[in-house]
Amino acid sequence: MEKTTKENRKYIGFFGRTNVGKSTIVNALTGQEVSIVSQEKGTTTDVVKKNMELFGYGAVVIVDTAGLDDNTTLGEKRIKASLHALTQMDLAVLVVSENTFSEIESSFIEKCKKYDIPVVVVYNKSDITPANKEIKEKVSLELGNHSAESMLLLSNIISETLKAKEGERKTPLQNIVKKGDVILLVTPIDSSAPQGRLILPQVQLIRDVLDKDCVCVVVKETELEMVLNEKKIKPDLVVTDSKVFEMVDKIVPKEIKMTSFSVVLARMKGAFDEYIKGTPYLDKLKDGDRVLMLESCTHQPTCEDIGRVKLPMWISKYTGKNLEFSAVSGLSEIETPLTDFAMIIQCGGCVATSQQIRNRLLPALENNVPVSNYGLVIAYIHGIFNRATEIFK
Ligand code: SF4
Repeated sequence: MEKTTKENRKYIGFFGRTNVGKSTIVNALTGQEVSIVSQEKGTTTDVVKKNMELFGYGAVVIVDTAGLDDNTTLGEKRIKASLHALTQMDLAVLVVSENTFSEIESSFIEKCKKYDIPVVVVYNKSDITPANKEIKEKVSLELGNHSAESMLLLSNIISETLKAKEGERKTPLQNIVKKGDVILLVTPIDSSAPQGRLILPQVQLIRDVLDKDCVCVVVKETELEMVLNEKKIKPDLVVTDSKVFEMVDKIVPKEIKMTSFSVVLARMKGAFDEYIKGTPYLDKLKDGDRVLMLESCTHQPTCEDIGRVKLPMWISKYTGKNLEFSAVSGLSEIETPLTDFAMIIQCGGCVATSQQIRNRLLPALENNVPVSNYGLVIAYIHGIFNRATEIFK
């Protein structure tokens, strides 16, 4: 599925057999003709998506998919596309009707569990065929019409489910700082810095420091020594941009905890525990090994230079091996099996959700292919991996 991921915009996919009324619900919910609706089976043949403001929640993308029960050759391709789209969802709405709930629905719910995606089951067309007792136990909502009131009920269930899921999510500094701690952020302002503002990871961290009732001190690397030695500021934690990691590592006394923005964000997004385990595999790479750089951008990555030029160069220099690097952008299906690679290195995923990154890495994780992340690899090859990850152990 071509994807135009926007930061923090959640993806909500509507799934179910053909003709259960997915598109009718999607159109009623979004208030616009997103999907073609007809009584003819299989009218939605491709994945269709629409941005909307979900009442009580905020910006989301609503995704309508082809039926899960089309057994023609073309239908099988569409089912594959729908199931691939599932891996990119933050929430799935499974639409059922006519008291039909069998293997297709059960195995869909199993897939959602595997990808850790919450499912809301909606029973549609209850005005024509009322839900029986067995179905009633499985569904969150019965729809007999698609009035504004019904859609409001559906919006509320989706919003609450999304919020409950978010409640489980980590914030950047969760469990590593406590109220009153002084957090010092080192943010170089060089020619690559945007004019007149800070970049998103820096802003996210400042906000998290304030949310946790801590004290935030922000400096450029050029003022770091002065702040520590002359101003006598004693930080509990230093978080630095990876670009100046080595310099900051030398300046900040060893007894002060230190990490980088990219390591903090890697913990928030993706498969952090597996990154920690997988990163030392850099030392085991051999001549001829294939290394995959996974970028989450669909547009030209703003950090293309890092993933395609600098990191391959640094890794080759560090390992002294003749490695073969490939890069894949976006969130669409990766054609080469992930097991063909000796190691996979995921970008920071600034425009992807944690769920999307994790689900994309799942085939590698299931087959024990070592995975890491740009920030952790940078820390490792610069000899500061242990210090940068110590606070998370
Ligand atoms: S970190 Fe990943 S998602 Fe962010 S700009 Fe770079 S390639 Fe794109």
